Amino acid sequence: MDDHADVVIAGAGPAGAQCARDLATRGYDVVVLETEQEDGFPRQSNKSTGGTFPRMMVAFNIPDDVVMQFTDDVVLESPNEHYVQEMPGAVLEFADFKRFLVKDSREKGAEYRFDSRVSKPIMEDGTIVGVEYNGSEQLFGDIIIDATGPAAPLAKKLGVTNLERQNQAIGIEREYENVTFDCEGYADLTDSMMLRLDHRYAPGGYAWIFHTGADTAKVGVCFIQNDSFQKYATADRTVDGYLEHWMETDPRFEDAVPIEGKQHRGSAHIQMPGELSTDNFMAIGDTVPTVDPLWGEGIHNGMKSARAAAITVDHCLTPKTPDTSAENMQLYNELWHEEVAPEMKRRLQMTELMYLATNERYDQFMRDLRRMDPDTMSKANAGNPFAIAKLIHRGDLSLVARFVKHQLAK
Ligand SMILES: Cc1cc2nc3c(=O)[nH]c(=O)nc-3n(C[C@H](O)[C@H](O)[C@H](O)COP(=O)(O)OP(=O)(O)OC[C@H]3O[C@@H](n4cnc5c(N)ncnc54)[C@H](O)[C@@H]3O)c2cc1C
Repeated sequence: MDDHADVVIAGAGPAGAQCARDLATRGYDVVVLETEQEDGFPRQSNKSTGGTFPRMMVAFNIPDDVVMQFTDDVVLESPNEHYVQEMPGAVLEFADFKRFLVKDSREKGAEYRFDSRVSKPIMEDGTIVGVEYNGSEQLFGDIIIDATGPAAPLAKKLGVTNLERQNQAIGIEREYENVTFDCEGYADLTDSMMLRLDHRYAPGGYAWIFHTGADTAKVGVCFIQNDSFQKYATADRTVDGYLEHWMETDPRFEDAVPIEGKQHRGSAHIQMPGELSTDNFMAIGDTVPTVDPLWGEGIHNGMKSARAAAITVDHCLTPKTPDTSAENMQLYNELWHEEVAPEMKRRLQMTELMYLATNERYDQFMRDLRRMDPDTMSKANAGNPFAIAKLIHRGDLSLVARFVKHQLAK
């Protein structure tokens, strides 16, 4: 085996590049294969709004120069109400962020091969020992990591991930200038990240406006083709059509002009993960459904899964006799469920309940949030059943009945 590394990572997204960064810092010989060309990277994979929070910036030592705008609040909107939560955040220039992770991990010793599309695992006695890329090229590793996002060419073939089409949320976003941030009848969105629950604009999902400085914003919609989508969606209106519809009907966009070349689109799966790892192999970031189902935070979760994978590499390769068996790799699964995405099942259920609600119920939800103390709210957000119960009303019987029917059908 001439072309060999300690660790081979497919995909230079936030998860893959962060994992390379951690491993190179620990002195491992790590090679990242990325399908896009280096010139202009990232293009197609420049897909994210990049809304994040100080806990991610500090935990992963992310410099301010990849931030477009620091924000003060998170605003939740429904058709006729809103709720403002003071919560400092940062809207990243996602492309700069990705390039920073590549540059920093390179400086720490990681090797990157751009224009290298990974297609399948190389197997020996039923176990992955390397990857095939660009048709016939081969690279071998002690541990292989799939960080290609929903593409998952390795994890799918190894049966480690079971990303299902019906659980795929799709999103589109454009950047605009001349947006009105303080419009009468709406919350002031200056220095805010706003998420809107409104089936007219995002049936079975949500829409957003993230302030990116001056009069500019990232504006997008995403949804999953769930029951609410079937119920509320207008026939033939695509995800792009929904964004256009919102732009045409919301007064905040009356004078808005799209910024050329600033369009992002992508998808993520909202479901329970499968196995996560096997002999010599782990899947990280969006390759396994790591994105938070409720609010779509995928960057921080993906980075945490990268770190959990790096810890597992160290655990497996440091001993005198390295052990990369599926059993020893289980450390990654444990860390994932305990630290990366704890309470995933409950958060998925909360998400389903939320998207089944009507627009009128969203208005009521905002009124409830305004009267709730912040402590109960953060407990509800973390999946505490007692705090969630405080958000359920007597009139929610039919909503809860539909939710239970769904759960039983699963
Ligand atoms: C529209 C939209 C808005 C979002 N907004 C937010 C937000 O505001 N905040 C937030 O926290 N999260 C957000 N997310 C989610 C977040 O962007 C993702 O969770 C995150 O990018 C996942 O990182 P990743 O490294 O796992 O995968 P990706 O970002 O998908 O990176 C995968 C990398 O692998 C490469 N690749 C793909 N196939 C191959 C192959 N065969 N061989 C080699 N390389 C390959 C790709 O080019 C890419 O560079 C958003 C997502 C979308 C779609």
